Amino acid sequence: MDIVQAGDPVLRRRAHEVPPELLATPFVQQLIASMTHTMRAAPGVGLAAPQVGESLRIIVMEDDDDKQLAAMSEARRTELDRRRLYHQVVMNPVIELLGGETEEFFEGCLSVDGYRAIVRRATRVRLTGVDERGEPVDLTLAGWPARIAQHECDHLDGTLYVDCMDSRTLTTAANLDRWWKARPATDIRRAMEAE
Ligand code: ZN
Repeated sequence: MDIVQAGDPVLRRRAHEVPPELLATPFVQQLIASMTHTMRAAPGVGLAAPQVGESLRIIVMEDDDDKQLAAMSEARRTELDRRRLYHQVVMNPVIELLGGETEEFFEGCLSVDGYRAIVRRATRVRLTGVDERGEPVDLTLAGWPARIAQHECDHLDGTLYVDCMDSRTLTTAANLDRWWKARPATDIRRAMEAE
């Protein structure tokens, strides 16, 4: 499936709840399979249904690519708190921010191709909803998986990371690699805001 890019109205709409009777239909099951395939092919760690043009409250997440995780240093993985997140489908998700703790990291979006910016997110969240079989989901997530969940749930309310980014830190992905990679967020903000 093609990933819808910023500017498409579907990304700015509040997505519709998935009615229980639609859950087991071939349409929804096929949509979930296609979203998962599209996320893996991108590659990305999360995708929301509006990003493939369907205004429905469905998200998929997965961050357990051994190659990608192995390419990252232990220190970097620890800094990002990049914990393994197995393939997860959540329909009609409800997210609750836990505790007051937040952290800042660069974030990107498959629908805002080629850019990254620093976004402040809650460190821990609780995510509830139902999975692809209609079974209840109740996850407590921390670190990178918590960030993924917040980013994907935002999509369902028509919000993109650019709405909550520190706009002074916006960079192309290429310039992030060239200038800012692996520097602590506080340093980067200082460097990008000072001039
Ligand atoms: Zn996104």
